[in-house]
Amino acid sequence: MKPIEEITSKDLEEIKLVVFDVDGVLVPRGTKIKQEGYITTLETKVIADKQINQLRKLKEQGFNLNISSGRGLYMLQDMFGQVLEYTSLTYENGSATWIDGQIIQHVNSFNYMKGLRKKLQCDEIVKNKNFKGFEPKELIITIHCEDEILKIPDLVDEHNKSIKSTGQELYCLWNGEAYDIGVKEIQTKAIGLTNLIKYLGLEKKNSLAIGDNLNDVDLLGQAGISVTADKEKVKGDFYVPLFGEKLPADVLMDSILRNKISKI
Ligand SMILES: [Mg+2]
Repeated sequence: MKPIEEITSKDLEEIKLVVFDVDGVLVPRGTKIKQEGYITTLETKVIADKQINQLRKLKEQGFNLNISSGRGLYMLQDMFGQVLEYTSLTYENGSATWIDGQIIQHVNSFNYMKGLRKKLQCDEIVKNKNFKGFEPKELIITIHCEDEILKIPDLVDEHNKSIKSTGQELYCLWNGEAYDIGVKEIQTKAIGLTNLIKYLGLEKKNSLAIGDNLNDVDLLGQAGISVTADKEKVKGDFYVPLFGEKLPADVLMDSILRNKISKI
């Protein structure tokens, strides 16, 4: 792994698409959520002016830009309202992409997930002192917790037995602040990227992706150039230090812009 500052215009020659993870990359880590009965309170983190400018410059140089997150579409549209003219949004871990005003759904998780949400809504979970809330989502399930609640992966294991005949299994990833539950291998950021590359008429070698967490491992594996923002957790061709003063996306965009490339 090389520090991202060492990326050259030669490395970037084939790159036409830059994909950004959100939390810990384009905005600081951490989601503030609180659920009390039927009232869910969520804090929106908005992209900073500096990153808006960097993204605009990359777009002017001819790069396609994509934001790929585990978050829901409505939330990403709020967070990135200032850059929606020139970025596409891939949401809920590769489940679908919002691009050119249309939604392209990559995965249908209905048959694998049905019945699970109801089971997870049990007292043993929602009344646990570590439970914070279900993040509103369409195609995956995300449960925020102060600390791990083992009943959650237990219920997912149990559910997996009941859907065995489908030949698919659900994953249940704990990322330090929430569990993400989706369909193994098909509901991943990698599938989102593969489909987006196809939609844009590009190839794998034309893509560069940056991420920092377990749901980014396969995304980085699927990109022509991979950049990790947490090299202890995720491997990449290049890395950005985790606790630097600047956001990882900031460091990456500066490193690309420094090469003064034009794709037009
Ligand atoms: Mg992240």
